[in-house]
Amino acid sequence: MDLSDIRIIKNILARHGFNFSKSLGQNFLINPEICPRMAAECGAQKGVGVLEIGPGVGVLTAELAKRADKVVSVELDKRLLPVLDDTLAEYGNVKIINEDILKTDLKNLIETEFSGGEVAVCANLPYYITSPVIMRFLEERLPIRSVTVMVQKEAAERLCALPGTRSCGAVSAAVRYFAEPEILFEVTRDNFFPQPNVDSAVIQLKIRKEPPVKINREKDFFALVKAAFGQRRKTVLNSVAAGLSMDRTAVASALERAEIVPNARAEQLTMEQLAALSNEVFSDE
Ligand code: SAM
Repeated sequence: MDLSDIRIIKNILARHGFNFSKSLGQNFLINPEICPRMAAECGAQKGVGVLEIGPGVGVLTAELAKRADKVVSVELDKRLLPVLDDTLAEYGNVKIINEDILKTDLKNLIETEFSGGEVAVCANLPYYITSPVIMRFLEERLPIRSVTVMVQKEAAERLCALPGTRSCGAVSAAVRYFAEPEILFEVTRDNFFPQPNVDSAVIQLKIRKEPPVKINREKDFFALVKAAFGQRRKTVLNSVAAGLSMDRTAVASALERAEIVPNARAEQLTMEQLAALSNEVFSDE
């Protein structure tokens, strides 16, 4: 069954009396080339388990199941469960969990379903929860090797932006701290049914074993990065002082010790400079 064929999708969904929910980000892929490519790029193969978010009618799930040892898919919309029973009937290595990915105990799920084996995350994400989902996978330090996901094109650019460049924001710096991000390929809006108002891109975040910079106090580093990028038109001096409720002189002196010019803006700072500033602002002496 070709689950990327729009006539087949319409037929199955009609049989199950299913109506699309815009609020759940339900735009299903209808180009037969995209899911095999995503499945191959995410590293789905023998010896690897895959965790998927939002299977929809199972178009990507099927490609993952053909390649990986096991696929566990978390789908919030329970109306899709009987659909998936139908469409994925031929795959004995797929398990669907009817939960909200933002509320799932991911650590426990990965331990119980994949029992210590290699795990890759792969999904065509519901876009309304792109950043929170990605940040959960990174911040919780889950035992996964990579996250390969389709996101809105602008989000892809932001998530993969290099610190020190214009498109960098707090989320780009956080992503780069935990992973090596890369845009793999773009997918235009006409590859989905129903067609969304935005274009998309598939990105891959390879989880780092060690962070790229040494941070004294990690939680404070993220607070500082958030403050620094919080008011984009202001200098780092002003945005950090305001965002962290700190004395301007103390921030100015930390900037000087970190060898950063006083009028620098957050988007001009490299990862190393952000780390140096954080270590000076939060020095334990
Ligand atoms: N994988 C399918 C495809 O590529 O055609 C569907 C992708 S569609 C963009 C997003 C899917 O995520 C939908 O099936 C939707 O019901 C599901 N979803 C939305 N919010 C979710 C959540 N919080 N937790 C788990 N799944 C969710």
